Amino acid sequence: MSEDYNCSQETIIVHGVTPYDSRTGAISTPIYLSSTFRHPELFQSTGFDYSRSLNPTRLELENTIARLEKGRYGLAFASGMSAISALIKLFAPGDHIIVSIDLYGGTYRLFHDIYEPYGLHFSWVDTDDLEATKNALRPGTKAVFIETPSNPMMKVTDIRATADIIHSHGQKHGQEGYLIVDNTFLSPYYQNPLELGADFVVHSGTKYISGHNDTLSGFIVHDDETIAEKLRFLQMSEGGTLSPFESWLILRGLKTLAVRMDRQSENALVVAMWLQTHPKVESVYYVGLPDHPHHELSLRQSKGFGGMVSFSLKDSADVASLLKNIRLILFAESLGGVETLLTYPMVQTHQAIPPDMRERTGVTDRLMRLSVGLERAQDIIADLKQALD
Ligand SMILES: *Cc1c(COP(=O)(O)O)cnc(C)c1O
Repeated sequence: MSEDYNCSQETIIVHGVTPYDSRTGAISTPIYLSSTFRHPELFQSTGFDYSRSLNPTRLELENTIARLEKGRYGLAFASGMSAISALIKLFAPGDHIIVSIDLYGGTYRLFHDIYEPYGLHFSWVDTDDLEATKNALRPGTKAVFIETPSNPMMKVTDIRATADIIHSHGQKHGQEGYLIVDNTFLSPYYQNPLELGADFVVHSGTKYISGHNDTLSGFIVHDDETIAEKLRFLQMSEGGTLSPFESWLILRGLKTLAVRMDRQSENALVVAMWLQTHPKVESVYYVGLPDHPHHELSLRQSKGFGGMVSFSLKDSADVASLLKNIRLILFAESLGGVETLLTYPMVQTHQAIPPDMRERTGVTDRLMRLSVGLERAQDIIADLKQALD
C-alpha cells in the first residue's frame, strides 16, 4: 500500500503499511529474529545494522502505528512505561510539566518517584478544567501531559484547547511548549490527538492495540522532524525496544482493532446503562452515557467512547464480595483485551498515588473499573448481577 494510497483507518488497521512481503509474497509480516545484519561492504548498509537500533518487523509496526495516528514518526518500546520514560528525557532538569491529576498510577510513579529527584518539576492538575491548566503555567512550563478520557474517572480534556494553551505559552517565552497525549484508552482508531494539535502521542500498546492481554508494548508517535533523530537516539541508546516476536504479536492483534473497539464500545454502553439501574451502584462513569458531563466534547474530538466503564458502589463493604463472586469477569488489572476485567483501582492500578490525591480525584475505596470485553453483553450483566446481589 503506497503512502499516497488514501484509505480508511479500518483498512490500514487490517493491512498495515506493507500488506505483503515483496520477496516472498508472505501476507503475515515475517519475524526477523536476527540481532545483527550483514553489511555488503565498508560504509554500506541494508538500512539495518543491529536490532536494538532498527529491526524490520518492529519497523513495520512502528510505521503502521504512525500511519494510524496520522504522524510521520513512530517508535515501539517494550512497554508503555518505557515509551513514556524515553519521551520525558526530551526535557531537562528545571523544566516544569503539567500532568493530568487523574492518570495511570505507573505514570505518576515514574514522574514523581524517578524524574522528580532528577530535577524535573510536575504539577498535578484537573486538565479537563482549562482554567486550571492555565493557572498552573509557569515560565519554565515546557509541556502538558494528559490522559483523555482519564484513568479511571473518565474525564475528558479538550485536546485542541489545551494544545493552544501550551503552544502560546511556549511562544510567549520563546521556548518549546508541547502537548503530550496518552491515547491508550481510545486507541488510534477512535482518537487522533496529533490532528487536534497535540505534539506527541504515547500509548500503552499492551491494551487495545494488542487487544489480547498477551503482549506488553508502548509507542510514541509524533510529527516533528527535529525531534525525530533525538527520540530514535534515545530509543536506541536506552535499549527498551520492542522485540521482533512481540512486534509481530502486536501486528497480529492490531488487525482486529476496529471490530474489537466497536463491539467493546457497544457492550460498554449496555453495561453502563444497566449499572445505572442497580440499587447498590452509586455512580457510573462512562463517556458514552448522554448525561456524562463531557459527552459533547467527546463527540467533537473522538470517533467513539471505548470500552472503559468505572462505577462506585454505595457501600465499600460490597467490594470484596463483588470481586470474590464474579464468575465470568476476571478480577485483574489491565484493560483493552477481549476478556472483561474488573479492577479495584485503589489497590491495583492507582496504588502508587498518595491517598489524598486519590481522594481528590475520586479514586475511593468504593470505585471499581471495568474493561468491557467481547463477550455477550447480557452475559457480562448477568455475572455482575449475580455477584452484586
Ligand atoms: C497501562 C497503561 C500505561 C502503562 O503501560 P504498560 O504497557 O503497562 O507499561 C500507561 N498509560 C495508560 C493509560 C495505561 O493504561
